[in-house]
Amino acid sequence: MSLNRKNFLRTFGAAFGSVALGGIPSARSSEPQKKPIVLSTWEHGLDANDAAWKVLSNNGKALDAVEAGVRVTESDPENRSVGLGGNPDRDGNVTLDACIMDHTGNCGSVAFLQHIENPISVARKVMEETPHVMLVGEGALQFAEEQGFERKNLLTPGAEKAWKKWLKKSEYKPVINVENHDTIGMLAMDEEGNISGACTTSGAAYKLHGRVGDSPIIGAGLFVDNEVGGACATGLGEAVIRVSGSAMVVEQIRHGATPQEACELVLQRIINNEKNPEELQVGLLAIDKAGNVGAASIHKGFNFALHTGDTPNELVDAKYLLKKQK
Ligand code: ASP
Repeated sequence: MSLNRKNFLRTFGAAFGSVALGGIPSARSSEPQKKPIVLSTWEHGLDANDAAWKVLSNNGKALDAVEAGVRVTESDPENRSVGLGGNPDRDGNVTLDACIMDHTGNCGSVAFLQHIENPISVARKVMEETPHVMLVGEGALQFAEEQGFERKNLLTPGAEKAWKKWLKKSEYKPVINVENHDTIGMLAMDEEGNISGACTTSGAAYKLHGRVGDSPIIGAGLFVDNEVGGACATGLGEAVIRVSGSAMVVEQIRHGATPQEACELVLQRIINNEKNPEELQVGLLAIDKAGNVGAASIHKGFNFALHTGDTPNELVDAKYLLKKQK
């Protein structure tokens, strides 16, 4: 029997009966936003949204907007979790992951890519210039150079200094809401009502060499289905991959959930699945075809930047599900 909206909401409500919701609920997340719309993770999303808005407000395409938007964060040397200046792995290599998806279901991705400042643009080239979805490591680098991307040293002096300090103890322990987990994920809807998304990161700081998180994985870090909506993720990638986080959010919307409900439902699944949810953070963003947006996280502290046809670019606190924090 297919799940109609009423049934779904009952199930949903029951599942949430025991969950302590905290945070500052965004009033704006409960009503459809006026097109165009762009939303992106964390405070660095404000600058990224500005670049995306230039495209969207000139009647540009959502795909061009999300690429232009997250490139700003990738090229910011002060940002320690994305692109140039990203924290390296435990051996001192900056290795980047990114993916992009458009309203036709086309997608492209790069993982474990080194020496290239804007992996999102390489991911777009994979989507547009190859029959593949994903290129990794040396092959992704070779492809990027063939496409004219310049090879660079991405390890900035500041990131190198912090890594050398970390080496003294060499303790790998993700800290909730601290700079070692802060991907930019962005979703945009253009004037035509088409949705695209992008996600890009240097991954978990001081990770094992070769580790890839959720961010370049279509369905985990990002998913778009233009008939239904889009979602993206930030936080501990392993936890997001284990539930196919972004695809799962979009599927919940397909079955009748609002974007807000869908984000909370998937986070609740992560909380139920993980052994120590109080020690990990995941944040999710979502948008549906009507222009409703949603955002939630496991712990307090996740925020996102939202710019719509109605309201200027601003930072919004996401709802969070667990009150207990380690
Ligand atoms: N999700 C990213 C990863 O696990 C990191 C983050 O969002 O902070 O690689």
